[in-house]
Amino acid sequence: MAKEHQAAAWSDPAEKKKSKRHGLIIVNTGDGKGKTTAALGTAVRAVGAGMKVCIVQFIKGSWDYGELHAAEKLGIEIHPMGKGFTWEPKKFGEDQKAARAAWEMCKEKALSGAYDLVVFDEINYVLDYGFISVEEVVDFLRKKDPKLHLILTGRNAKEEIIEIADLVTEMREIKHPFQKGILAQKGIEY
Ligand code: ATP
Ligand code: MG
Repeated sequence: MAKEHQAAAWSDPAEKKKSKRHGLIIVNTGDGKGKTTAALGTAVRAVGAGMKVCIVQFIKGSWDYGELHAAEKLGIEIHPMGKGFTWEPKKFGEDQKAARAAWEMCKEKALSGAYDLVVFDEINYVLDYGFISVEEVVDFLRKKDPKLHLILTGRNAKEEIIEIADLVTEMREIKHPFQKGILAQKGIEY
């Protein structure tokens, strides 16, 4: 769509009514900061628009962090499923089990019909590690409710995921305070 047409569609209420809901598959990937926080920003926008939102987190779960409490205040359902995650090579089996449990939760929530937007936070990580099968996820995405919006986050998004997505953004690191030895800041990073 040309830019001027797009602007007209946004401002004209009649055009707005005509525009049909198209559930998007959105991917936030790349090595720069902002993948999860962009998903949270979209979640806030969606809730503000009267939508129901659910976030399933593959890695987070065993510590306290800002979005848990913010979600509660905003009426966003959030499931930290990463309690079993260790990142220790010896505990590969446990990480795989935690990832599978999170994936089961993603499917359940996406299939429930109760949400307008579901976020699979850090799913790209566990796909990259081979903890869940990319074919299974792509197959699920292909058959999803056409009205449901989904956001998949995490570094190293698989080619197959990028291909099936409607919107893919790559965060690129230019600078990160970590390079200067500055540790993660409360409210900014967790
Ligand atoms: P955020 O949750 O802040 O949006 P993210 O989802 O893009 O970050 P992840 O790859 O999930 O980033 O990593 C989570 C943690 O790692 C965050 O605390 C984030 O600040 C930090 N991080 C992200 N990118 C970098 C980087 N390039 N160098 C060092 N730390 C990073
Ligand atoms: Mg993240």
